[in-house]
Amino acid sequence: MGDTSALDAQQSKLNAVLKLGGDPADLPFWDGCEVGQFMLHRCNVCQRAYWPASRCIEHGDESMVWVAASGRGTLHTYTIMHRAYIPSMKDKVPFVVGVVELEEGPFYHSNIIDCDHDSLRVGMKLMAKMALHESGLTVPMFVAV
Ligand SMILES: [Zn+2]
Repeated sequence: MGDTSALDAQQSKLNAVLKLGGDPADLPFWDGCEVGQFMLHRCNVCQRAYWPASRCIEHGDESMVWVAASGRGTLHTYTIMHRAYIPSMKDKVPFVVGVVELEEGPFYHSNIIDCDHDSLRVGMKLMAKMALHESGLTVPMFVAV
């Protein structure tokens, strides 16, 4: 006898991840987002951090663990989307898609939100802010700090 509702929640999260083309190996990351933590997959031998789930390029997968990261990063590059390529995006344009260089090293693709688009600068400091995605997943987006 298990906790059926917890299992259901976990199953619907897995379904959402798969529907978005994600990898079940990253489920601990999505679990972290739900409690406001930005998780990274880290090698406990050399402390190198990875996203998505990976194996260390030097030490393989034996020492990989999920750890809470800072959620901080800098804007590496970005684009402002002015056109809705699918109808469901019609009410969302214009929006910003950015590549964030995380403080721990990996790059993360996300939306930059709550900002004046003219104030965006490569190298600006950003912080993750969890947001509910229409898939049902809680996802990190980024805001200026
Ligand atoms: Zn390593």
